Amino acid sequence: MTEDLSTLTARTMDAFGVTAPLDVAGGMTVVSPVTGEAVASLATHSAADTEAAIALANIAFRAWRLVPGPRRGELVRLFAEELRKSKEDLGRMVSIEAGKSPSEGLGEVQEMIDICDFAVGLSRQLYGLTIATERPGHRMMETWHPLGVVGIVTAFNFPCAPWCWNAALALVCGDPVIWKPSEKTPLTALACQAVFDRAVARFGADAPDGLSQVLVGGPDVGAALVESDKVALISATGSTRMGRIVGPKVAARFGKCILELGGNNAGIVCPSADLDMALRAIAFGAMGTAGQRCTTMRRLFVHDSIYDQLVPALKNAYASVSVGNPLESQALVGPLIDAAAFASMQDALTEAAGLGGTVHGGERVSVGPDTAFYAKPALVEMPKQCGPVKRETFAPILYVMKYSDFDEVLELHNDVGGGLSSSIFTTDLREMEVFLSARGSGCGIANVNIGTSGAEIGGAFGGEKETGGGRESGSDAWRAYMRRATNTINYSKNLPLAQGVVFDIG
Ligand code: NAD
Repeated sequence: MTEDLSTLTARTMDAFGVTAPLDVAGGMTVVSPVTGEAVASLATHSAADTEAAIALANIAFRAWRLVPGPRRGELVRLFAEELRKSKEDLGRMVSIEAGKSPSEGLGEVQEMIDICDFAVGLSRQLYGLTIATERPGHRMMETWHPLGVVGIVTAFNFPCAPWCWNAALALVCGDPVIWKPSEKTPLTALACQAVFDRAVARFGADAPDGLSQVLVGGPDVGAALVESDKVALISATGSTRMGRIVGPKVAARFGKCILELGGNNAGIVCPSADLDMALRAIAFGAMGTAGQRCTTMRRLFVHDSIYDQLVPALKNAYASVSVGNPLESQALVGPLIDAAAFASMQDALTEAAGLGGTVHGGERVSVGPDTAFYAKPALVEMPKQCGPVKRETFAPILYVMKYSDFDEVLELHNDVGGGLSSSIFTTDLREMEVFLSARGSGCGIANVNIGTSGAEIGGAFGGEKETGGGRESGSDAWRAYMRRATNTINYSKNLPLAQGVVFDIG
């Protein structure tokens, strides 16, 4: 590396024109997992700042909701143009703050661009239905209106794309956004905001102040957003632990809530599977991003007739995988986010071994200074699904189990919380269709012959199964950012009621 990470960070943030000081004495420390060194120290927002941001966003809402949808789409189109220009710098910030490889960092920014492009088209398609009414001389239709301020809380492992999945839709739907990024990745958020401000400057005066704001801070800042009845929709991405706190708080004030939470994702490899294809998909899905994707494959059920073919090949892939500094090497596996993540990985492996599991890999790998935490991905052969296998450990651990009966394996597959994404490897049409049917995978994402990770923005993303199916990004996810009104218009001139029509008043 030619320059140290702090200098690289300051130089990259400078390219965004971020004016907030990055060296605030006693501020919130931002640590890069690549080397474990502090790269910035930021001032955090207070409760009063949060209140002021919410007030400003509500003023912005009153103006923005009146701007026609396609014009709102124009702002998002300009934002996508600015993102294209800043792709490399933003991708680098993702690598510095989250420890992702350059291609993953760039891939995350590409997802932002993709959802913006999607949202631009959507801005002309916020359709309501015209509905057949039982009343003569009447017309009934539904209209979709902007909802209000959208509060977005995001996780460290995707420092920018999930914000954009929400923000691009919210903005075309007529809603201002307030973003509370992870306390581990606030710099990427400030950079995104700077890129957005460039789009606003090109757009014109009909974009009100406070259309998009960032609040820097920890869970307390997120909680203030969550508890405010002036925030119409909370979209929170993170652990199920966080979701269990946020969900009831929003429900208690009758707010709307989108929860994108953890994933204990599984794959099933059936006797007819193309094993080369399965091997590649499993290795990438389980080890990529050092197991720190919500869609990482964490459990694998292999039919006993092919277990001795597939699992030794997988063990070889695990033994030979490269672990290294993502900014300096082509390594597939980069760092864990911090010491706590490494400790929870070790705890899970110890527990699995105590339950009869055979652990391959999982040890710490020395890459750079001692302050960085890199680990060899772990493959654990388990006698059955129990203990840590049933929960998400946010680290590269793949639990492998044998199965013999298809119906039984479907039950095991679904017998965990956190079922976000799933896949089956088979060339048997019946197995495939059953897996995708009502009695198949209970997850918001169910794939055939591809791994669990790597969702496209065109479909509704995720929706951890405990909280109910896919929601954010594509498909008709936009409806969550709007409110529906059903309108009935009586154009009759004292027409007699149709026979048999009864009005129930009350
Ligand atoms: P986390 O739950 O610790 O934190 C996520 C965000 O929630 C942070 O911004 C944090 O400050 C905030 N937060 C925490 N407690 C809060 C509270 N009480 N009130 C309001 N805000 C609060 O998660 P993490 O460690 O940053 O991220 C990893 C987790 O996120 C994993 O479980 C992963 O599966 C999940 N994740 C899910 C998706 C998805 O789309 N389903 C995407 C990425 C990550």
